[in-house]
This record gives sequence, structure tokens and C-alpha cells, in this order.
Amino acid sequence: MKTDLDCLFCKIIAGTVPSDQVYSDDQVIVFKDINPKAPVHLLIVPRDHIISLNELENNHDKLIGHIMRLLPKLAKEQGLDNGFRTIINTGRGGGQIVFHLHIHLLGGKEHLGGF
Ligand code: 5GP
Ligand code: ZN
Repeated sequence: MKTDLDCLFCKIIAGTVPSDQVYSDDQVIVFKDINPKAPVHLLIVPRDHIISLNELENNHDKLIGHIMRLLPKLAKEQGLDNGFRTIINTGRGGGQIVFHLHIHLLGGKEHLGGF
């Protein structure tokens, strides 16, 4: 599993930067976004330092399947019975700020609005 000592999310995974963690297993950790855009705003982060969707390879298929199946479970745990939004920003043009793959899970407002 790759790690990058200069990467913020690798530091959070290593525990050298604190986070408000809500879930963890052998493949991912999940913590609250420091600047939440909705009442529930979680970040699902693979333990492996993968920069973005652009760097995914065949051997990541199991991880991606795991994350997709985990999302509705996390949403349910957070009480998001009315639905939730997932966002993946890829590259600077896609609004990515932290270059370690992560999935945003948002919800808890009546409507998040469309775009
Ligand atoms: P991106 O734009 O890269 O998809 O999103 C990065 C997210 O990480 C942003 O929503 C930002 O608020 C969040 N973030 C940045 N630094 C930290 C931090 O130190 N701790 C936590 N929990 N979230 C952070
Ligand atoms: Zn990293």
C-alpha cells in the first residue's frame, strides 16, 4: 500500500494529523470534512495513496466496489434516510484540492439543490 509523507490525507491515515473519524477498515478510513458543506459531510479515503480517479488501475477494482457498497451504509448510519450526494473532484480543473483520492458524502438538508 502506497503512502506519501507529504500528503495530508496520508498523515490523517497515519494519525499524525487529527481527524473526526466515523469509520475505518483495512481498505478505507472515513472522517468528517473540516469545512462541511451540509449537515453531514464525510470523506471516504482509501488507505492506499491514489492521487485521483486518473490513477486508478485494474487492481483497484475491489477497493472501488467496496467504497460504492459502503456509501449507502454510511449514509444510513448518519440518518440520511431522504437521500445523499456523492462527489469526486478530479484534478485542479475538477476542483480537487487534496491530491489523495476521496469521495465526498453529503446530506441532511431538505434539498441539496441540483446542478
Ligand atoms: P477536494 O476539493 O480535494 O475534493 O476536497 C478536499 C476536502 O478536504 C475539502 O472539502 C476540505 O474541506 C477538506 N479538508 C481539507 N483539509 C482538511 C483537514 O485537515 N481535515 C479534514 N477533516 N478535512 C480537510
Ligand atoms: Zn495520500
